[in-house]
Amino acid sequence: MAHGFDTLQIHAGSRPDPATGARQTPIYQTTAYVFRDADHAAALFNLQEVGFIYSRLTNPTVAVLQERIATLEGGVGAVCCSSGHAAQIMALFPLMGPGRNVVVSTRLYGGSITQFSQTIKRFGWSARFVDFDDMEAVAGAIDDDTRAIFCESIANPGGYVTDLDAAAKVANDAGLPLIVDNTSATPYLCRPIDHGATLVVHSMTKYLTGNGTVTGGCVVDSGNFDWSASGKFPSLSEPEPAYHGLKFHETFGPLAFTFHGIAIGLRDLGMTLNPQAAHYTLMGIETLSLRMQRHCENAMEIAQWLETHDAVAAVTFAGLPSSPSHEKAQRICPKGAGGLFTVTLKGGYDACIKLVDSLEIFSHVANLGDTRSLVIHSASTTHRQLTEEQQIAAGAAPDVVRFSIGIEDPKDLIADLNQALAKATA
Ligand SMILES: *Cc1c(COP(=O)(O)O)cnc(C)c1O
Repeated sequence: MAHGFDTLQIHAGSRPDPATGARQTPIYQTTAYVFRDADHAAALFNLQEVGFIYSRLTNPTVAVLQERIATLEGGVGAVCCSSGHAAQIMALFPLMGPGRNVVVSTRLYGGSITQFSQTIKRFGWSARFVDFDDMEAVAGAIDDDTRAIFCESIANPGGYVTDLDAAAKVANDAGLPLIVDNTSATPYLCRPIDHGATLVVHSMTKYLTGNGTVTGGCVVDSGNFDWSASGKFPSLSEPEPAYHGLKFHETFGPLAFTFHGIAIGLRDLGMTLNPQAAHYTLMGIETLSLRMQRHCENAMEIAQWLETHDAVAAVTFAGLPSSPSHEKAQRICPKGAGGLFTVTLKGGYDACIKLVDSLEIFSHVANLGDTRSLVIHSASTTHRQLTEEQQIAAGAAPDVVRFSIGIEDPKDLIADLNQALAKATA
């Protein structure tokens, strides 16, 4: 019987601890695991038997989290890692190689734009930035060296929703995997695999943990992609020398990507999630649906209030009927458009700075998806490494502030905004 989301967010992947009966998932704070005997050790190292060897690869607390997120996203498996940025490298690593490229949306988290436009070049990889409102341009950017397509579901810095069905069609027609960063939506609001995504990545730092206590990331595999069909993904389809010529796709079928992520990715890149962080994220996920409902309700109420305020030139929130993303939001994330949006102030850059400095309940931080309401002036912080053209394309122009609406009493948040806007426009 398929359980509902509210049940799965509490139970998926966990069972009473077999040793003690502990009802809550224990924090297995251990580096290594004792082998039953030498044959057992050999079978584990040959990937002939699944089990625990060393916590850089697998840990029981982390394993519960992996199964829980995979279940909530409708995937076959997941690999957790140390941050959202680690997850992006872990997702691309088996697919890419020197000279290969990934076609990515211009509307991404600022750090992702930097990672893709600068840092991945050190691996000989490159990214091609395209406006995902123009699917012909996305298709046109694909060439023989393209190995993946990457976008966010509800995209940073808020208010834009990607047409995942259309992106999946372009990827599918080209025989390429679609990778969707689902950080801002979470599987409660959007399940990209249901719209045709191959892989889903998360910064668990944000809504999944939900209270600003950890950094963590995750790659979820749909299990739907044929890694052997085109010969373009030899890491998954060809013999792996480090495992005596084992072929991941042939051996593990739909779990090939997940096994590769653990057996090669975590083993050799070492971007491991620690069990303590996994525990905090498991705690967070237990209340994910309740929090997301409140984030969405509060964001809607505050966005509507701001839209009518004299100091405000524009509010980009996909929940508002005025948003160009409104129709897409109803298809892609019908339960709500999330808790992120941007506001353009008529007073420009200076008014934005004054607003940020005058808010009392809202914290000025480089984070999102906290229970607390957060604000940031992206152009002077998270997006400051970008050119003004990139800032505008990413929705982070100098006269724009981004809000991450928390789950406090919305009356208090509106009162705080009211006093701060008065100061910003004085
Ligand atoms: C925060 C964030 C990331 C990066 O995650 P970290 O956990 O900070 O490494 C990637 N994508 C999105 C959408 C984010 O919000």
